[in-house]
Amino acid sequence: MQNLLDSVRIIGDPVLRRKSRSLIFPDDLEYLRTLVKKMTNTLEVAEGLGLAAPQVGESVRLFIATPDYLDELNGHVVFINPELSPYGEMEKREEGCLSVPGIYEILSRPGRTRITAVDIRGNSFSLDVGGLAARLMLHEVDHLDGILFVDKLSSIKRKLLRGRLKRLREERGGH
Ligand SMILES: [Zn+2]
Repeated sequence: MQNLLDSVRIIGDPVLRRKSRSLIFPDDLEYLRTLVKKMTNTLEVAEGLGLAAPQVGESVRLFIATPDYLDELNGHVVFINPELSPYGEMEKREEGCLSVPGIYEILSRPGRTRITAVDIRGNSFSLDVGGLAARLMLHEVDHLDGILFVDKLSSIKRKLLRGRLKRLREERGGH
């Protein structure tokens, strides 16, 4: 179980900074199934809300959500090649990230988003979400573009966190 936690990539790891490639059906199906299984187990052990493929070292456009969100997400937990159209008023919420352990900060993002994605069977679907579910998606899709939530903090906040982020990069980032 511990080695699953160790497989989560930490800030400083270059894979977290890459733009991920889209997945192809059915060519990537076998790879996808194995990856989703690994990510699901990792998310469970890490007790996170969501996990994006780059966080386990794979540069592909896929994220998963914890089953706690099943109701809001209409039964979906796997989001492949997601496309977001965020809208609505900006909302302030606290965010954290398994790849930036121990750091939680308030961040402003659009309150709602529409998402179109593909499920594990290759069927495309759309959802319209708000609240925590919207926040989760905005956060996870950023991972697929090499963006971490701490990048979006104000320069003052980033300055205050500089020492802690540097330590994280030095301790765990050089995977
Ligand atoms: Zn994250």
